[in-house]
Amino acid sequence: MNIYQNPYNAEKIKKAHKLLAEFKYDLAPLDKGYANKTLYVNVGDLKIKSKPVTQQMKDIFTAGRGFDMKLLWDAVNENTKWKSPENEIVIAAGAMGGITQYPGAGKSIVCGISPLTGAPVDSNVGGYFGPYLKFSGWDAIEIQGIADKDVIVYIDGDEGKIQILEAPEEDVNSHLISEQLCEMFAKDELDMKSISSVSAGVGSEHAFFGCLNFSFYDRRRKVARLKQAGRGGLGTLLRHKKIKAIVCKFSHLKADSNHVADLDRIKEIAADYHRELYKEDDKQCDMRHVGTAHLVELMDDYDLLPTHNYKFGTHVKTPKITSHVWREMFTQGIPDGCWYGCTMQCAKCVDGYTLLTGPYKGDVVSIDGPEYETAAAFGANMGIFDPHFIVEANFYCDTYGLDTISWGTGMSFIMECYENGIINKEITGGYDLSFGNGEEAMEMLHQLARGEGFGNTVGLGIRRLKKLFIEKYNADPGFLQDIGMECKGMEYSEYVTKESLAMQGGYGLALKGAQHDEAWLIFMDMVNNQIPTFADKAEALHYFPMFRTWFGLQGLCKLPWNDMEPTDNGETDEPAKVPKHVQNYVDIFNAVTGNNIDKKELILQSERVYNFQRVFNLRLGFGTREHDMIPYRSAGPVTLEEYESRVERYDKQLKEKWDWDPTGKSIEERHQKTREFREDAYQKLCDAVYERRGWDNNGVPTIEKVKELGIDLPGILEVLNKYYN
Ligand code: SF4
Repeated sequence: MNIYQNPYNAEKIKKAHKLLAEFKYDLAPLDKGYANKTLYVNVGDLKIKSKPVTQQMKDIFTAGRGFDMKLLWDAVNENTKWKSPENEIVIAAGAMGGITQYPGAGKSIVCGISPLTGAPVDSNVGGYFGPYLKFSGWDAIEIQGIADKDVIVYIDGDEGKIQILEAPEEDVNSHLISEQLCEMFAKDELDMKSISSVSAGVGSEHAFFGCLNFSFYDRRRKVARLKQAGRGGLGTLLRHKKIKAIVCKFSHLKADSNHVADLDRIKEIAADYHRELYKEDDKQCDMRHVGTAHLVELMDDYDLLPTHNYKFGTHVKTPKITSHVWREMFTQGIPDGCWYGCTMQCAKCVDGYTLLTGPYKGDVVSIDGPEYETAAAFGANMGIFDPHFIVEANFYCDTYGLDTISWGTGMSFIMECYENGIINKEITGGYDLSFGNGEEAMEMLHQLARGEGFGNTVGLGIRRLKKLFIEKYNADPGFLQDIGMECKGMEYSEYVTKESLAMQGGYGLALKGAQHDEAWLIFMDMVNNQIPTFADKAEALHYFPMFRTWFGLQGLCKLPWNDMEPTDNGETDEPAKVPKHVQNYVDIFNAVTGNNIDKKELILQSERVYNFQRVFNLRLGFGTREHDMIPYRSAGPVTLEEYESRVERYDKQLKEKWDWDPTGKSIEERHQKTREFREDAYQKLCDAVYERRGWDNNGVPTIEKVKELGIDLPGILEVLNKYYN
């Protein structure tokens, strides 16, 4: 919605604000990527203070997600639940965050104890908030407490003041409040780009998987656009704290706001990258025209596109939602970076879309995305191969503050339960929730936002739904465990992993739950057969999670790393690592901070934080082998229908891979044997990965390992001593 067509009467909304607390601070330039202090805000007792960042904190935790985890650890105790007042939302930009020369350096990393999993969760998101926060003088903000009434936390990086404001009049839904905040806090239209906010809509008040919307003002479209910190329910946590928004204002962005050690070196590396991107992107992933949605056809081609709750990996209707459709629907020719300087520009947008349903029916809006995950979840996994459904549901999930992955995967699970008679129309309130039923699925989404009916029940998330269906409707626990695609309580993102053992580990062994951002190994493993042995897979499940953790420490977007590869990448020793781009990151980190790290130290920086987070999981009662187990559908065919659909493949594997002759055996026997072999392989994979990571057989980091990493802090040893004494 364009605020100039639909003025929000911001003055009236602003007049209703009541100042609850204010804190003034001295503005100071950054020092080589660091502000060297963090901001503490308690919306319960209204305390605001500054905390120093010590050299030890930098040495151990680097920045970004590392700082988030350290601050969160200090704030909570072993009994903290997600609803506890001491739980925090912590947001940081990272040491390299905010540079505008190299693509993808505007990410914020958000952490908190997750409503969905009960354990620490991290989520990486674009938009301008993280860099503005840092340039305003703060390496991170931690927000603790629960407010009495709805509030806004306002950081004014121009004036050097922090305010907690009672805010009764603003809308809650993100597409409205993000624009109202721009109008309220900017001096004029030109100044709107200086405002970035974090909000979550009304859906996150009901669901356990509420997302956070980070805004960036798009001057060409004259609209506040949104990027999501989707995973883990941090939007639910924001609304639980009665926070309507966290707002940051910073108007003085310059090419060197980070005050880096060597700006010329960064420019030199970046110029080379940009040249290559302009030459190669059209030939490779075409991110600048279709964003990540190019993956839809690729996944379908390789039988990896989750279809009907991950039963299958391909569908005859997939061409209805492949990239040619998105290319048409996305506005082309407008720069679409979610931070300055990102020439990859994959933050695509559908403009001028007239909503067909819900409270905003008839409104003309700009819709961010859909990205691959959303198109795959709503289109193939729910079996609704209709781009208009995907776009509309995408809009509503975003503005309601709902994670599209958790809602899409959750609805796919519901649909399979419905088709198996586990739930019926009596339970759903008269709705037919078969695969493919877009109209009724859309109604579930609106019900969830209103906190009504069966749609609201979907907001429990798969883990709680399984419990409910077993206890209330007598469902078979084994079957629900097999088909409920969640791990650690977090719904799977959108890849079929049955034919990639390494990718099963990529999901199951990820610290926060079933998200692919730690390791995406399907092509290395299944397509290119580059990691055939358990040791090879374990090495990949060590290196890639550690390397990818580093993006979170630095405030970086992962996409420019390997969604465009140098032309000679295939000739390098380890093409999957994209060595030239890894070296770029090492060199830019050194040019920002004045340090002198190498590729080995890069991995060590991550390994410290990664192991710290694993111990943090243990501290809260998670983080052992049992929590790394995956639903069987992630590993193999749950039903005979699935087995029969790829019977040649499975029979061949029994014979050639596991030396078991299927001739003359019934399909039930072959199906059962396949399961035994695959489940055994997953356990062996866990053994190999734990060993490679320096953990014991239960997945617990050893004392030697934490000593070797220099994270043998008293709190860490106290947790580990429970396992080793
Ligand atoms: S590659 Fe895409 S998501 Fe990443 S920073 Fe650039 S525009 Fe944003």
